[in-house]
Amino acid sequence: MATTPKLVLLGTAGGPLPSPARSGISSVVVVDGRTYVVDCGGGATRQLRRARLLGGLHRVLLTHLHSDHTCDFFNLFLLGWPIIQWNPPVHVFGPGPAGGADALPPDDAGRPVATHNPANPTPGLVELTEAQFQAHAYDINIRMREAGRHDLRPLLVTHELALPTGVGAWGPDRVAPDMDPFVVEEDDGVRITATLVAHAPVFPAFAYRFDTPAGSAVFSGDTAPCLNLVRLARGAGTLVHEVFDDTPVDGDNGEMSEDEAWEARRRHHHMVTSHTPLSAVGRVAAEAGVRRLVLTHFIPGDDVLPDEHWVKGVTGFDGEVVVGADLMELSL
Ligand SMILES: [Zn+2]
Repeated sequence: MATTPKLVLLGTAGGPLPSPARSGISSVVVVDGRTYVVDCGGGATRQLRRARLLGGLHRVLLTHLHSDHTCDFFNLFLLGWPIIQWNPPVHVFGPGPAGGADALPPDDAGRPVATHNPANPTPGLVELTEAQFQAHAYDINIRMREAGRHDLRPLLVTHELALPTGVGAWGPDRVAPDMDPFVVEEDDGVRITATLVAHAPVFPAFAYRFDTPAGSAVFSGDTAPCLNLVRLARGAGTLVHEVFDDTPVDGDNGEMSEDEAWEARRRHHHMVTSHTPLSAVGRVAAEAGVRRLVLTHFIPGDDVLPDEHWVKGVTGFDGEVVVGADLMELSL
């Protein structure tokens, strides 16, 4: 049955540590009963069930391979299996391998860091998915035999996004050179385009745009303010954008051990080089000329900050500002 296209925020917390108040980052576009999921943070499968959208699962798009965007990806299939076994195959789009050990950030001087899975330290979407099938082979095998489930394997079709030739990107130092958006898929009246965004040292990291007969929506993924994102979002109706609170606070953090201080410095460096502060997100929306800015991927994501704080912090943008909340539904 055809329904009005809509945008649903399944989860709105940023970062891997589960929030007591918000589900992990995940958003959905629904067109004609088809569910397009962008990112699968912790709780995404349950949130899809709560929104009654799992049955229409059609496409999954991962912006990048940080765990807070991927950890519930395979669960959509492993746990959602009783429902989606009746679906046509679900096509999943996302990053390919980052490029091996050379694509990892260098060790900090004086602090050697172990390398996990050194033979293949930067697997992409295909290998990530295959490893999940192997890890859960016992569960999958017994349920197909005992419960008569349809084979899970053909239900999940992975596609690693190939960059247009000549883009010249290479992680972790050159993650988002200027480029034009490229088409991911155009089908059933929905056109999906993508571009590289600035989430160093992660490479590749994508933002996605959906153009539908009812309107358009752009999902920033994780990014610092980024010209490629502005270009992708130009003239879109809705920009769903990540944000972290950079409002200055009084006082200090008290006594910190040397280890804690080192960790805090690394965390701060990551935030300012790879994410978008509240003080700048309005400018991104204004430059793109979007009608509506929807804030999500909140850091902090534990709801200690009231909605008014986020709204007031957006400057330089005259359009509508929406403070995202879990299971919020919006028109496209
Ligand atoms: Zn990230």
